[in-house]
Amino acid sequence: MKKVFFISMLIITLFMVSCSETDDSPEVETLSQTEIDDLKFLREEEKLARDVYLFSYDKYTQDIFNNISQSEQQHMDSILTLLNRYNIDDPASTERGVFINQTLQNLYNDLIIQSDVSLLEALKVGATIEDLDINDIDDFEDRTDKTDILNTYDKLKCGSRNHMRNYYQQLINDDFIYIVQFISITELTEIINNSNEQCGN
Ligand code: ZN
Ligand code: ZN
Repeated sequence: MKKVFFISMLIITLFMVSCSETDDSPEVETLSQTEIDDLKFLREEEKLARDVYLFSYDKYTQDIFNNISQSEQQHMDSILTLLNRYNIDDPASTERGVFINQTLQNLYNDLIIQSDVSLLEALKVGATIEDLDINDIDDFEDRTDKTDILNTYDKLKCGSRNHMRNYYQQLINDDFIYIVQFISITELTEIINNSNEQCGN
């Protein structure tokens, strides 16, 4: 009887040891609060771009808004992958035009009012959003040294440069020259003087 008890205890112990071994998932690096805040902000900032362009597409049915909103959805997905990897709660609402970050909520409200005025204003809003996005990601890049995060930032900025070229060109066609508000004139000049880039997945 004692022997049976001993053997069953041994089995239980071995089982527990093997379980705790499989629980040892590869160590996920911890992020600083700034890195976490930046990722959460960017997830909603990409949503702001997507939601504003969806609004403009509904109103003006121009392909440019549809195409770029789909690209913004991919940018949102890329940030979500990082949030999941680092076990960070996703701040993005499933509802269009709703944001947890109050600054982004106010910005969205203002940009929708402007986009509603005319197609030209909606295109200016497009250039403004890309200008802001590139500038913010420039700042975020200085605040992390994680390779996976930097790679995603790089990909998103590449996409934003393409979007900026599209909006800028469309505005030129409408005899409007976009003046930078966030990035430097040098950075904008470099963007518009280059052709569209392949940004990877
Ligand atoms: Zn984007
Ligand atoms: Zn964009």
